[in-house]
Amino acid sequence: MMALRFEVLGRFNRARAARLTLPHFTSETPLFMPVGTQGTIKGLTTKQLEEIGCQIILGNTYHLALRPTSELIDELGGLHKFMNWPRALLTDSGGFQMVSLLHLADITEEGVTFQSPVDGKPMLLTPEESIQIQNRIGADIIMALDDVVKTTITGPRIEEAMHRTLRWIDRCIAAHKRPREQNLFGIVQGGLDPVLRDLCVQGLVERNLPGYAIGGLAGGEDKDSFWRVVAQCTASLPETKPRYVMGVGYPLDIVVCSALGADMYDCVYPTRTARFGTALVPGGVLRLKHQSMSADTRPIDSTCECMVCKKYTRAYLHCLVTKDAMGSQLLSYHNLYYMMQLSRNLHSSIIQGTFPEFVCNFLRNMFPKGDVPEWVCNAMEVAGVDISSCCHNT
Ligand SMILES: [Zn+2]
Repeated sequence: MMALRFEVLGRFNRARAARLTLPHFTSETPLFMPVGTQGTIKGLTTKQLEEIGCQIILGNTYHLALRPTSELIDELGGLHKFMNWPRALLTDSGGFQMVSLLHLADITEEGVTFQSPVDGKPMLLTPEESIQIQNRIGADIIMALDDVVKTTITGPRIEEAMHRTLRWIDRCIAAHKRPREQNLFGIVQGGLDPVLRDLCVQGLVERNLPGYAIGGLAGGEDKDSFWRVVAQCTASLPETKPRYVMGVGYPLDIVVCSALGADMYDCVYPTRTARFGTALVPGGVLRLKHQSMSADTRPIDSTCECMVCKKYTRAYLHCLVTKDAMGSQLLSYHNLYYMMQLSRNLHSSIIQGTFPEFVCNFLRNMFPKGDVPEWVCNAMEVAGVDISSCCHNT
């Protein structure tokens, strides 16, 4: 059973532009999804998020379950209503947060055991419980609890995690009480091992889920391994279902993964880096804290149409960053706008048949000297996107 519709509207080789219809909103892919940890994206109102063009927001189940709790969210009519967000939501399983935030988390066949950060008592998150919590929160897309292992780990642990992820998906499917309103996505694990990744993809595809995520990346693996895993998974995941690369990424990663046929992304980077005074621009990043900004009367990016770039100078933002919350709010606004504009450009260039031109233009801005990293050149070759005009490596 599915509560989504995924229509591919255009393609360039492996890249696709699609329309994703979810219970609360119809989105366009490729799509960046901002992370709103506690039902909020720090400092921005939901009105502003709509203005920026955000279509799906990610909520962290672990944080929401601790505060305000999933029972209270359920009682108040679900997370959409609770946070006043009329568009789509996605929640993660909570497992990743536990493993990455809590030192004492331990994974057994039953689930993830951890020490409660509230009272220190041992607690257990099972696949059933993760789904029950996510059913209460009520997001349009919910994620299966998987056995998360860092990609940099090797050996039998990776294989165990992949098999356990497959066993747990059946427990998640069985526990899912709202398949007509919420879409359960499975997560492909298997580290950097192509055989394990393939087994996991096949296992998940057999379960005929509404969508699939590629997990376990963005964990410190080298870039060449990263794109090869994405390329391998997107090649064997169904053409008719959305593909979500979890925890990715930087603008360049998103362009590469989209060329390889991925559709959805999430990352804390644009808002996190905003809090450190960094703005995303076509050339890479602009550090507003730098002394050279103190008398610069230009906007962050003269080609950006966002409210911040229309109204404020670099000099003003230099004054605010790190000293006033307003600084990081304005930079978050611009950075999310940048990511959403990137999403829109990817979508429209694929539809219009100008995807290679868009990619070359993007790379020329980011690497004006033509020093495009080799992993990007390699990935683009597999994606069938000719970037020779902006890349002196090839
Ligand atoms: Zn802007």
